[in-house]
Amino acid sequence: MGDFRSDTVTQPTLAMKQAMSDAPLGDDVYGDDPTVNRLQDMAAEMLGFEASLFAPSGTQTNLIALMGHCQRGEEAIVGQQWHTYRWEAGGMAVLGSIQPQPLENQPDGTIALDDIASAIKPDDPHFARTRLIVLENTTGGKVLPLAYMRDVQMLAKKYGLRSHIDGARLMNAAVSIATENSSDPIKEAKNICNSYDSVSLCLSKGLGAPIGSLLFGSSSFVAQAKRTRKMLGGGMRQAGILAAAGIYALENNVQRLTDDHANASMLSNGLKEIIRTHARLNESSTVVHPAHTNILFMDVASDVASVFLPYLAENNIRVTSGIQKSKDGPVRRIRWVTHLNVNQSDVERALTVVARF
Ligand SMILES: *Cc1c(COP(=O)(O)O)cnc(C)c1O
Repeated sequence: MGDFRSDTVTQPTLAMKQAMSDAPLGDDVYGDDPTVNRLQDMAAEMLGFEASLFAPSGTQTNLIALMGHCQRGEEAIVGQQWHTYRWEAGGMAVLGSIQPQPLENQPDGTIALDDIASAIKPDDPHFARTRLIVLENTTGGKVLPLAYMRDVQMLAKKYGLRSHIDGARLMNAAVSIATENSSDPIKEAKNICNSYDSVSLCLSKGLGAPIGSLLFGSSSFVAQAKRTRKMLGGGMRQAGILAAAGIYALENNVQRLTDDHANASMLSNGLKEIIRTHARLNESSTVVHPAHTNILFMDVASDVASVFLPYLAENNIRVTSGIQKSKDGPVRRIRWVTHLNVNQSDVERALTVVARF
């Protein structure tokens, strides 16, 4: 079995479950769950924020943040591919009455500074008031360069915009930069977030917790966020049982993301090797994109993909796929994600199965 659909499929380990069952609990809606409080305090300290808030999902922490920054009829600048825009069921518009202003993503995952600057509306009654710039890091597995993060921050300051990072996979970005600089991932995570008004971080992806996301910001922002979380139905009672998994994840599972990145590289290199000589998955039908962090994309011509995808499923290799535009018409974009529950031998087996197709 190789489940490459997403790093959300990770199961809590025995040690994590032990930490969950040992956790002291209270009622977090009353603010007296000691384990939730401990998670929120240690995480805020870790990333250099005044406070953080534990919530059930990243979709919710993002929505809470957007609603904290924008009032009804105000506007948030987002990337076309951002999760906040494309993958959250339109929540900012439906529940926040916030107008998204989507911008084209560049091949490196960024949205261009010029595009951002020219999307900011002047103060004119025709326009929604532009209030917020949202970034996503990593995005599609790509790490946004630190220099870019700084440039966007400067632009936000210049125009008086608030700034939010959807850091569902922030730690993958931090570990990737830390590996390059031979530095500490937590220090790099702090660097990425430096000066941003808010950040969301998923505990339930590569970090391996079963449920949970954190929202970071100033004390007053997080106080308001707590009210919005309640409004959205995200106030949880003995939530320490989940927060304990989050503490365990932050203490034990950050550095190990390098293993996931190494496995994704190995998978990408192996797939590139295969398509050099394969009869059907060859250079005219298939493009294997480089692995950035723990995610890799492979574009396969539709006719080949319609046989290849069921073949993978029959062989217990699970992936996700979507339609992608290309210069030769639509192709299937297959996504492979590495995580805590796929190891090197799962990657080797997947490569063997693909080669045999
Ligand atoms: C997964 C993800 C989220 C949040 O997803 P949930 O499943 O709601 O926790 C937010 N942003 C990005 C970029 C993600 O990949």
